[in-house]
Amino acid sequence: MFSKILIANRGEIACRVIKTAQRLGIKTVAVYSDADAGARHVALADEAVHIGPSAARESYLVADRIIAAAKRTGAQAIHPGYGFLSENAGFAEACARAGVVFIGPPPAAIRAMGSKSEAKKIMEKARVPLVPGYHGDDQTPELLAKEADRIGFPVLIKAAAGGGGKGMRVVEGAGKFADALAGAKREAKAAFADDHVLIEKYLMRPRHIEIQVFADTHGNCVHLFERDCSIQRRHQKVIEEAPAPDMDPDRRRAMGEAAVAAARAIGYVGAGTVEFIADQDGTFYFMEMNTRLQVEHPVTEAITGQDLVEWQLLVAAGGKLPLAQEKLHIDGHAVEVRLYAEDPARNFLPSTGTLMHLRLPAEGPHVRVDTGVREGDTVTPYYDPMIAKVIVHDRDRTSALRRMAALMGETEVVGVVTNAALLKALCAHPAFVGGEVDTGFIERHRAELFDLPAPADDRTFAIATLARLVEWQETAATDSGDPHSPWALQNGFRLLGEGHDEVRWKDGDREVAIRAHRHRDGGIGLDLLDTTLEARVQRADDGRLAIWLGGETFTAAVVRRQANDGGIDYSLFADGRLRRLRLVDPLDVTQYEAVAAGEASVRSPLPGKIIDLRVKAGDTVSKGQPLLVLEAMKMEHTLAAPADGTVKSVRYGVGEQVAEGAELIEFE
Ligand code: ADP
Ligand code: ADP
Ligand code: MG
Repeated sequence: MFSKILIANRGEIACRVIKTAQRLGIKTVAVYSDADAGARHVALADEAVHIGPSAARESYLVADRIIAAAKRTGAQAIHPGYGFLSENAGFAEACARAGVVFIGPPPAAIRAMGSKSEAKKIMEKARVPLVPGYHGDDQTPELLAKEADRIGFPVLIKAAAGGGGKGMRVVEGAGKFADALAGAKREAKAAFADDHVLIEKYLMRPRHIEIQVFADTHGNCVHLFERDCSIQRRHQKVIEEAPAPDMDPDRRRAMGEAAVAAARAIGYVGAGTVEFIADQDGTFYFMEMNTRLQVEHPVTEAITGQDLVEWQLLVAAGGKLPLAQEKLHIDGHAVEVRLYAEDPARNFLPSTGTLMHLRLPAEGPHVRVDTGVREGDTVTPYYDPMIAKVIVHDRDRTSALRRMAALMGETEVVGVVTNAALLKALCAHPAFVGGEVDTGFIERHRAELFDLPAPADDRTFAIATLARLVEWQETAATDSGDPHSPWALQNGFRLLGEGHDEVRWKDGDREVAIRAHRHRDGGIGLDLLDTTLEARVQRADDGRLAIWLGGETFTAAVVRRQANDGGIDYSLFADGRLRRLRLVDPLDVTQYEAVAAGEASVRSPLPGKIIDLRVKAGDTVSKGQPLLVLEAMKMEHTLAAPADGTVKSVRYGVGEQVAEGAELIEFE
């Protein structure tokens, strides 16, 4: 076995690999970019080597620098994680030349599966069923259009070099094919420097079911059952589980055997995943093979009781697979959710910012949390916006989902928008719990899954107002040094005496004033919108508020934060959900101007490049109408009009680079 390895990755997967290495007594070397100098994976590793600027292209993707770091630190092997260089055959070869073990498959196997088109040709020969489609070399638009007609609409255009859903377009009909092809090629070029595409019949309501395979250098190859990864957005996984709901043993065996056959066909070694797409009737077709450890491998670890990174290290060191096929068993049910910094309401646009408040579920016998960040860390536009993976293992699917829904309700993040509420709604959705699982689930159940901006209720105003009163009390106490001093009393807040205060909140366009009456005994009477309630509040040692409201006790975490437009936002976590209100501070006039300015323009949510403009000065637009397309984080994002209005000016042209927060379009 190795005594020291280097991890050529960052974030949660780097941390996860380090954890297993430490358990096995293997020393670890982390690598990091400028943006990651203070990152968790750097803190966890025994040593860390700086490899360049923040952009992945100049750091995590620079093979030479990573191999040099391994040589210099005496690491005998490199674990590539997923993404970055993990499926780069050239990197695997360069490692071999430098005398460092690449913890992954042989370069030829990576190459064989590197192109989705080539992979399909190989699978066709191995008689593994394929989705009807075109995966040829001829890329002339006319021929591709003709092939799409032959396959029959709807079709799916995919980047041959693709991954992460980039360069993928569903096309409903012939009239939309040319535009979609151009878009897919543009995105593929940006993400993979290769614009080859293939076309597939777009299946309706399919399931994504994949098989974990593992092979060693001694001719052994097994599968570790399936994972169902059908709950997706933008054709990317959000929830994964194992085993797949309603999988019958015969189909499991057939898919497992097909996956092992695929791995054997290319002389596979190490961890790999064969992805299938399955029709509602259970017919399955080969989709692609990922020649690396998969993001969702923890659900397989949970149900099999195995550590797949340990298996990877064993195999890379020349060892045999620890278990034979018949020794592998499924125990219970595991579910993983990907907690992302992204905004479901804005078509899952990534959200960047500092995690000024972060409370992830606590790990325990049923709960595992894989993360690469801590409170205070920043989600940057440079890398994947995943905050954490939360994995639950329980005796059956219903129990696991129930547990997960509760955990998502306890998850608290302030500083970026997250999909936590969506994940909670998914895990609690009766149809999903009942076994309705397919890739269209989120879109089809949008109305029940997405938080519609509802007017704030009395409970929301009560929690926020109590938090504000506690803040006043604490400020007064710090200002005077002693909460009981008469000076504190004279400070205008009259903390201990009777009296009243008024706190004003902004909820959307509505402004609401809540009057709080302080009683001599420390109680507070709140005049809310529909009712008057008696309350008490106290800050607990952990910073949360212990609240007694109208006879009911509960705790809330309240985080105050200055928004980009200058306003003061309160994030309230209570009752398993997040509520937000904006403070109207009568002493601060700038926030009114900021809010007014913010509403009259569209700003860039991420640093990126304008690749399409759909409006010009003088156009009238209606709410939701697409205004422009921004390429950011290697994907195209369409920005829509926030309200009905008239375009006053368009500040940038197609091809221009824009900074985060830049005013792109101004309205009258
Ligand atoms: P990536 O490299 O981005 O993982 P895949 O080829 O694995 O690309 O496809 C990603 C997802 O797109 C699948 O999980 C599935 O939801 C959807 N998808 C792929 N092919 C088809 C198809 N032919 N019909 C319907 N959906 C598909
Ligand atoms: P899976 O492994 O389950 O198929 P994905 O395909 O979503 O999951 O994840 C792999 C892809 O995710 C990579 O190809 C890459 O585009 C993206 N990705 C996610 N996280 C990272 C990361 N930390 N570094 C690089 N790429 C990442
Ligand atoms: Mg895939």
